[in-house]
Amino acid sequence: AKLDGRATYRFFQLEMDDRMQARRRLELDMRQALARREFQLHYQPQLQLESDRIIGCEALIRWRHPDRGMVSPLDFIPLAEEIGLIVPIGEWVIRQACRDAVTWPAPMSVAVNVSPAQFKSDRLVETIISALASSGLPATRFEVEITEGVLLQESAKTLQTLHRLRELGVRVSMDDFGTGYSSLSYLRSFPFDKIKIDRSFVKDLSGKPDGDAIIRAIAGLGKSLGMTTIAEGVETAEQMQRIRAEGCTDVQGYLISKPVPAEDLPTFFASHPPQ
Ligand code: C2E
Ligand code: CA
Ligand code: CA
Ligand code: CA
Repeated sequence: AKLDGRATYRFFQLEMDDRMQARRRLELDMRQALARREFQLHYQPQLQLESDRIIGCEALIRWRHPDRGMVSPLDFIPLAEEIGLIVPIGEWVIRQACRDAVTWPAPMSVAVNVSPAQFKSDRLVETIISALASSGLPATRFEVEITEGVLLQESAKTLQTLHRLRELGVRVSMDDFGTGYSSLSYLRSFPFDKIKIDRSFVKDLSGKPDGDAIIRAIAGLGKSLGMTTIAEGVETAEQMQRIRAEGCTDVQGYLISKPVPAEDLPTFFASHPPQ
């Protein structure tokens, strides 16, 4: 049947209502998820190429929804950002990550993703200080990963927060490097400890002619600025070999390990002994 304008409008209206409802449902569920202990952290190990050692893990949140099963962070983090829930959720992530990491062999570190709304909240630095103190994890074993979104409205306050973290001994990584519009200028405004090269560039290694040019350039940039460069999303031995050849210092990806629950890490660490 042909839809006239009014029918089309009604159709979209209904669809919108559905989506609004689904969104509201997710929002309500998410508000209770913390109290119901439905969040979990998985950890993905990072390998230092030169030493062939696991130097730390990135914490990645998982939501085990009672009806929907595992919900991807890509599906709920943006909503959590929008409605401000990211602050308490992020606080839980920081505290849990510290409690877990303090049990790992020193000097392994834990990296936590901090999203823009969380970064802007006044509590971030205090939360980190308190989580470090109550877990006993040294600040030098704690790392914060931020994306360009955090620096987008680069303000005096943003830089001040970054410097406060740095003074504590916390390390700061630039996540998804190269995917935004002004990654380079951010390197100039703040001395990151680590550049995380986005997975898309690792993919290009095998797909595109000159696919290695970007990785080589970023590795060189990191070297001259005294920053660690870690390639994300490394899935094959060939990719790892080429990344090593281009001069990146570290790798992370399914080739080393998928993100795993905290309780699986001891087994993983045991099979990847420090050399
Ligand atoms: P991200 O920070 O860029 O994290 C890397 C993502 O790539 C993770 O997806 C990880 O599981 C996936 N990955 C790692 N190695 C490979 C690989 O070899 N191949 C492929 N195809 N994928 C790989 P995940 O866990 O679904 O997280 C997605 C995004 O959600 C993260 O991207 C991050 O932006 C956000 N996120 C996750 N946990 C948190 C959190 O605790 N707080 C905040 N604010 N954001 C989080
Ligand atoms: Ca990250
Ligand atoms: Ca990333
Ligand atoms: Ca990403």
